[in-house]
Amino acid sequence: MRLKGKSAIVTGAASGIGRATAIALAREGAAVMLTDIDDAGGHATLDAIAKAGGRAAWRHQDVVDEDQWREVVAETVRLHGHLDTLVNNAGIGSGQLVVEMSLEAWNRQLGINLTGVFLGCKHGIPAMRAHVQGGGKGGSIINISSVAGLEGAPGLAGYCATKGGVRLFSKAVAKEYAADRIRCNSVHPGIIDTPIWTKIDEGGLSATRDALGTPPGANSIPVDAIALVNTPLQRAGQPEEIAAGIVFLASDESAFITGSELVIDGGWTA
Ligand code: NAP
Repeated sequence: MRLKGKSAIVTGAASGIGRATAIALAREGAAVMLTDIDDAGGHATLDAIAKAGGRAAWRHQDVVDEDQWREVVAETVRLHGHLDTLVNNAGIGSGQLVVEMSLEAWNRQLGINLTGVFLGCKHGIPAMRAHVQGGGKGGSIINISSVAGLEGAPGLAGYCATKGGVRLFSKAVAKEYAADRIRCNSVHPGIIDTPIWTKIDEGGLSATRDALGTPPGANSIPVDAIALVNTPLQRAGQPEEIAAGIVFLASDESAFITGSELVIDGGWTA
């Protein structure tokens, strides 16, 4: 088991990449605190981990709420003894043209995708530092960005802004806390087959479809069609393929890696 003795928080653990990550971390021996705004999905992830013999706890959390971050970190330390792994994964997608985007939609996306990551680091780092001072090996923060944090995409300007922000924020955190033996890296998925593609705002769907090269006439965002057009490996990725990268960054195998970008995109940005 590659993560035996580790204690992790995974946000957005009720669905998609977060669920696959929580399951993978627990399979490798970590005790995992699962959080999300989706209670039913969170409990489903918890059940899956319990059935497989893993160790996990669930807590409802909106990542934009600072008090809830304080509580989640404190509860993790109370239940699992310490914190050394934080996966800031919760996120939303919003496809809208800049001139049509409301300030409310911009702020909502920025809040969940970027401020949520900031708050996680703000409250997770002191707990990780305390563990290191008490003899722990070190901490690992893994922030989920996107290929949209590496390249611009028309129709996704707001999303790109949040994910580009996550990328450079992660590098600054890496340098700021390296002396505390806390690592921080960003992960950049390409097109991954998760429910996020069914949730992108109706109003911006056409801009997003055009931007991503979806065949005309589609009335939702078919992930396989987008992947075929944009991904050299000619398929969408699976959430487990992102989780595998996150497990590596959480493990001591990546002990000399900080401030880096792990791109898992089937060749999109090659
Ligand atoms: P997903 O299946 O929609 O899962 C995201 C989870 O986050 C959902 O359970 C969602 O709940 C939850 N969430 C939304 N707002 C939240 C909040 N304020 N506080 C706490 N939880 C919240 O999406 P995913 O594809 O797994 O995405 C996970 C991460 O990967 C995101 O950061 C996303 O931007 C990134 N990403 C995904 C792809 C992709 O192709 N799938 C590509 C690049 C990057 P609700 O369902 O209730 O909203």
